[in-house]
Formats: sequence, structure tokens, C-alpha cells
Amino acid sequence: MTPLFPNICIGCGKIAATPLCFHCEQEWMHKHRQVSKHISQKGDEIFACCQYNGLGGKIIRSFKYGRRFDVLPIISMAVSNVVSEIGEGNFSYIIPVPQSFRKIFTRGFHPVEMIGHQVSQHTSIPINLKILKRKWSWYEKDQASLNKQNRLYNLPHSFFATRNKSWGENQKALLIDDVSTTGTTLSRCKEAIQKRYPDWKVKILVFAHG
Ligand SMILES: [Zn+2]
Repeated sequence: MTPLFPNICIGCGKIAATPLCFHCEQEWMHKHRQVSKHISQKGDEIFACCQYNGLGGKIIRSFKYGRRFDVLPIISMAVSNVVSEIGEGNFSYIIPVPQSFRKIFTRGFHPVEMIGHQVSQHTSIPINLKILKRKWSWYEKDQASLNKQNRLYNLPHSFFATRNKSWGENQKALLIDDVSTTGTTLSRCKEAIQKRYPDWKVKILVFAHG
């Protein structure tokens, strides 16, 4: 019988029945999983559950590119724990950063939405996939292929928020993403939400930073 997931530890590559072997699990829980705060290029606060450079990066890469869906609980648990730490009272909505159609199409799944759904289950904060939208474009340039200046230029009009009075006033939104580097995408998303809902507070949380 073929196992559903390769039975090797994501951290060290040894044979293990769980995505992280006992040793790596301990390392993850006590060393790598640590909240940190960063400032995006546009000056927004970004909270992260771990650093990309380390076990956190291995975990998120194995999920996104290696299709190790068995690591999803590790990711969503880490995010959920930080939600309560930075919450200062409950959030009204979890808003995942929307992905480009091309990425969802080529990858076949939406990692950040999957994380969002699980975090929503853990925290009882509703997930809202309708507020923040990404402009549909098959030809949207890949951020990685652009230089810094063009990258900033490419983004501003990619995101927009939709209006719906039933979503209320003075809400607190939790914008989530899997990885942040410069944080430009996240700032643009926050900007799009607050342009439509100027009285809303938006906090940003990512799984890994770096
Ligand atoms: Zn291991």
C-alpha cells in the first residue's frame, strides 16, 4: 500500500510517522515557533509565527510546493496561537490574501485560503473571502520576475475591496498570508480594505517571515 504522504520528516528527512519526527517537533515547538514583529516597506506592522529561514520555511515549502497537506495542522495551529496573542479582543473576520488566478490554476489549490479555513475553525473567527479581491488577470506579471521598482508599480491596482453594508462598521480584520518578505503585497491589501472601510482596523499576520 502506498502511504498518502511520504513518511519522512520534513525537518531532517528521517523516516517518521508524522510530518515532523519527535526531535524536530520539539525543535519546532520550543525554538522555531516564535512570534516576531516586522515593519513593511510602507510602514505597516506585520506579525509572523516563525522565520522563513529555518524549519518554518521547510514546513511552508513542503505544503505549497511538495503538497504535504499533512503539515496544514502544524501551520494553522501556529497561526491560531498567535491570533490570540495579538488579538486584543476578537477579530471580526479572517481575510486571506487572494492569489492570482494563474497561481490557483497552475497549483490546483489555494494555500492561504486553506490555512484561513483551519484558523477560522480553531479560533471561531469567521473567514470572509468576499471582502478582498484580486483583479482577474491571466497575464498578471509574476512579482519575482520584476525588479524592485516595477514590483511596486505592478501591485497598486491588483487588489480591491467590495462594499457590503452588512459587514458592519468599526470592524477588526485579520489579514493573513503564508510568507512575507518586503510586506508590500500585504500593505496593498490593507490599503484596499481601508480605502473601502476607513473605520476598520486591519492587523497583519503571516506564518513565516524572511
Ligand atoms: Zn526530523
